[in-house]
Amino acid sequence: MIPYGRQHIDQADIDAVTAVLTSDFLTQGPAVPAFEQAVAKQVGAHYAVAMNSATSALHVACLALGLGKDDYLWTTPNTFVASANCALYCGASVDFVDIDTNSLNISVDVLANKLLESEKTGKLPKIVVAVDFAGRPCDWPALRRLADQYGFFLIDDASHAIGADYNGQLLGGAAWADITIFSFHPVKIITTAEGGMALTQSESLAEKLRLLRSHGITRDPAWLEQPDTGLWYYEQQALGYNYRMTDIQAALGLSQLKHLQDWIARRRQLAHQYQTQLAELPLILPNFDMLAHSAWHLYVIQLDAEKTDLSRRVVFDALRAADIGVNVHYIPVYWQPYYRQLGFERGLCPNAENYYQRAISIPMYAGLSDGDQSKVIDSLAMTLGI
Ligand SMILES: *Cc1c(COP(=O)(O)O)cnc(C)c1O
Repeated sequence: MIPYGRQHIDQADIDAVTAVLTSDFLTQGPAVPAFEQAVAKQVGAHYAVAMNSATSALHVACLALGLGKDDYLWTTPNTFVASANCALYCGASVDFVDIDTNSLNISVDVLANKLLESEKTGKLPKIVVAVDFAGRPCDWPALRRLADQYGFFLIDDASHAIGADYNGQLLGGAAWADITIFSFHPVKIITTAEGGMALTQSESLAEKLRLLRSHGITRDPAWLEQPDTGLWYYEQQALGYNYRMTDIQAALGLSQLKHLQDWIARRRQLAHQYQTQLAELPLILPNFDMLAHSAWHLYVIQLDAEKTDLSRRVVFDALRAADIGVNVHYIPVYWQPYYRQLGFERGLCPNAENYYQRAISIPMYAGLSDGDQSKVIDSLAMTLGI
């Protein structure tokens, strides 16, 4: 089976992990801050806080921005459930903004209209979580303008998009989002097995993220209510969690990070090859934007209903039968039973629903060989009857 995505592990990764296992610290040692500094430097961020998953990072980011019970968080339906669940963890309410059919990211126009309507009813969001779907950056300058106009915070769920840039600015390094989140799950661009990170340009937000990552506990004398008690002394100042990353994971991440630029380049090359070699098939292909330069976490094709009668189910099953590990990203979040019982109904975001019915993610990862990519292309051509 050629999977839709997979990690790439080499001997240097194995050596880096083994070195931590025989060192003094398996967790809370030097590898985590070293990894944080390396990622921050790579993307040009001031502060980076590593966590045990992107889901944890999203949760803590919402808390650090003050999201609570009477607040709203808005996000896109075309994402993994974690982008919305983070609001519910905080006791807040969630709502969804439809996607743009071209970028498949949150639609700036739909968002602008919804903000205008919500201003009248006094239900403006406290946070908007925008997701760089498949690795393609959102229209960040436009989102920032709306955030400034209406006074909400922006979280960039860049789980797909470490290494992607908008007009030359790497995500995480610019000031468009208040907090940017990366995921290091094995199907993402680089991995720590499980792991995530929150990046920000704000020192006070970084301090809150660090406090909440580790039980709300601090030992920093500058922060303590009773700084002169003794060297054993610490204070719990907020209700935090244990969302820490281990040094084993951070060492793997540091080793993986060395490949980031090469891997993005390879993914871009594979995307170009798909683009030219799938052009004749009855498909809607992702496009290349002049400003939003994708990290190509996913390569999603859509069946073009005007050119083929084949259903997504038939094409998907035929590709799986041919040992092509296709997948689908994403079922609209509010179609999930958990969200339905919260009162969400079908029809809320027609673009996302229509997109979902025709989408198939085909193999895309840095280790995909040209030969395996050709097999994918041939299987698609056979299945679509060309
Ligand atoms: C993978 C993913 C997450 C969650 O990442 P974890 O590190 O597995 O918690 C969140 N948002 C999006 C868009 C993702 O793709």
